[in-house]
Amino acid sequence: MAKDKMTGPEQTAMLKRLNQQAAAFLVGVTARTLRDRTDAPRNEDGTYNGPELIAWWRNQLPRPSLSDDDLERLLVVRDVVSEKFLGLDDAILYSILDAMDDLRAKYGENTLIVLVELLLAEWRDLAHDTSRAEAFYIPTEAEIREQILERFDGKVAERMTKRQADVARKRLHIAIVCGGCGKLRRGRQWTKAEPPEGYAVGIEYEILCPACEDKDPA
Ligand SMILES: [Zn+2]
Repeated sequence: MAKDKMTGPEQTAMLKRLNQQAAAFLVGVTARTLRDRTDAPRNEDGTYNGPELIAWWRNQLPRPSLSDDDLERLLVVRDVVSEKFLGLDDAILYSILDAMDDLRAKYGENTLIVLVELLLAEWRDLAHDTSRAEAFYIPTEAEIREQILERFDGKVAERMTKRQADVARKRLHIAIVCGGCGKLRRGRQWTKAEPPEGYAVGIEYEILCPACEDKDPA
């Protein structure tokens, strides 16, 4: 029996060349989860170096598993923020990406949290002049009548005025609908459902579901 035991150096050598299943076991995830993390460091032969993998894994931000509805809220934040950045020059976008890649390489993934905290603090600061009640105010019928209601939002025209749609947008009550098939995005899924009550349809984002994107690659 004693002959079957590996020596210390043998065990060390083994830990430097783990297969996917053993490597996944080491960091406490399924082999499939680890395989999907294509950025995980690997040896040239595809095996995993245990200590390197652990160092990389400890540097990863824990990702919460969001429900589809909460992921959808996050996706809308992304869509709205990206929309604001659409006017940016490609050179500026590349510069932002390069700076972030550099800072992440230097300080690790937690740099992303610092950036998000900076952005949120800035937005809190910018937002504080107006109360929520003022910001989300929906004008009365009489006030609406004073406006020229020349533009409606396609799908929501029957039940929502332009002003109501604008306020819905400001509250991020935006339903993303595929520009190809009209399906509604809900987190990871695309369904044939109607937008939630009181939601504006975000047609300006020109987003295609994966099925339509496959049919009509941009
Ligand atoms: Zn589609």
